[in-house]
Amino acid sequence: MFRINKRNFIVFICLLISFLLLVTACRQNPKEEEEQKPTQPTTAAETQPTQPTQVVQTLTPKNLTHASDMDNGYMTRSKKGDTYAVFYPQTNNKKIDQRINKDVLYFENLCKETSSDFMGVDYIATVSGENMLSLVYTITGYKTGGDTDTKDIFTRVFRLNTGKELMADKVFKPDFYSFVSEKTREHFKKLQLKKGFSTEDKSFLTATNPEPMHYDRFSFDRTGCVVHFDSKTLFKKPGEVFTLPLDFNQIQDYLLIDKDGFTRPLPGAMPLDVKDDGSIDRSKPMIALTFDDGPSASYTEKILDLLQKHNAKATFFVCGNNSRANPDLLKKQVQAGCQIGNHTMYHEQLTKQSPEKMKRDIEDLNDIIEKATGKRPNLIRPPYGDINSKVRSVLDDYAFIMWSMDTMDWDSLDAEKVAKEILGNISDGEIVLMHDIHGSTAAAMDKVIPKLIKMGYQLVTVDELFYYKGESKMGGTAYDSL
Ligand code: ZN
Repeated sequence: MFRINKRNFIVFICLLISFLLLVTACRQNPKEEEEQKPTQPTTAAETQPTQPTQVVQTLTPKNLTHASDMDNGYMTRSKKGDTYAVFYPQTNNKKIDQRINKDVLYFENLCKETSSDFMGVDYIATVSGENMLSLVYTITGYKTGGDTDTKDIFTRVFRLNTGKELMADKVFKPDFYSFVSEKTREHFKKLQLKKGFSTEDKSFLTATNPEPMHYDRFSFDRTGCVVHFDSKTLFKKPGEVFTLPLDFNQIQDYLLIDKDGFTRPLPGAMPLDVKDDGSIDRSKPMIALTFDDGPSASYTEKILDLLQKHNAKATFFVCGNNSRANPDLLKKQVQAGCQIGNHTMYHEQLTKQSPEKMKRDIEDLNDIIEKATGKRPNLIRPPYGDINSKVRSVLDDYAFIMWSMDTMDWDSLDAEKVAKEILGNISDGEIVLMHDIHGSTAAAMDKVIPKLIKMGYQLVTVDELFYYKGESKMGGTAYDSL
């Protein structure tokens, strides 16, 4: 890391020298400059503020598979704002790139407002494990002559498959902070820093309290997690930054994620009904199609055949009467690799029922499903999406699966509309609500299923969505997308 920063520093100095030469040249030939103006209006860099230069480096997960494949860049802007260059990474993931672009704007403003004579922003991008991208920015203010004035650190960690940012509360368990506080104090004491960097000072001890705010700048590499500090906060002395490397083995018990960036099963997570045969690529987009109110003697089989034809899966939230009438369809759903969830015995609002009735409605239907398929569901879709904390606590052995996309198929009864709604709005991780008791919905699937696959979506069950997205399924919790 240090070596690369040094290299950038040299590049920065070269730029600084060229800039100073340019300024000197302009001052020496003010007349010539004025004379040139009308004849070279489009390239008169010396006479007008230079337009910002932006250089985009594309980092793809592929070329950053190994932790050693680091890429870096810098941007610099003079205080007067008349010349600057911006280098920043792009990843081919829209969400990550949007975040980076926002950060670049933020850095540009920092550079414009700096009290230093020049400011530069370095970054190092590291992909670690299967799925994590860490960006570490070093923001350095320079005095004329090249001396360091200020230095600050800014970090971001993303999941490559979803582009979601991994914030501290999704990475560290609460007890991480006592551990890291102790480690930080130990580490800097051992370092025996030069005079003026005392680990006994009150300001150092305050800045290393076991509070999340002191440790919110972190990144990951092949060996573990790195916590970053600037000396301004640790030692009240600007100009130096510090890192605390924490090996994976050392911090395993304090992490909510694994080395690949996927969430580790939380204590008490429910078992997932998934056979991982390697056919699903967790780095590619996936969605869960769900069908309520069936099984329907008229349409469910058609949907199942379509799914099987395209090697796709779905989840069926079935009701009491239809399940009792069509146990063979329940069996076929499971044989097709699809998942069955409980949509209650009588399709009544759970919130309006007594705890006893609530439980009975779920268990009676589970008995029917288990008898037909040998499997007992632990997913509930509450009728009308009606749910409250009482329902969640009474039925805390179940996960409540809501939806992120409502096709309103029961309302339109129009295959074209349903297809348009899904194909026009779908995105990775969504749970789509439909009903397999309508012919129009089954007809829509003729178009929707092959088209979604063509668009690059993997059609998975709800449990597969949890599994491949690396999320835990918790009892008494409601989910609408992953
Ligand atoms: Zn329903």
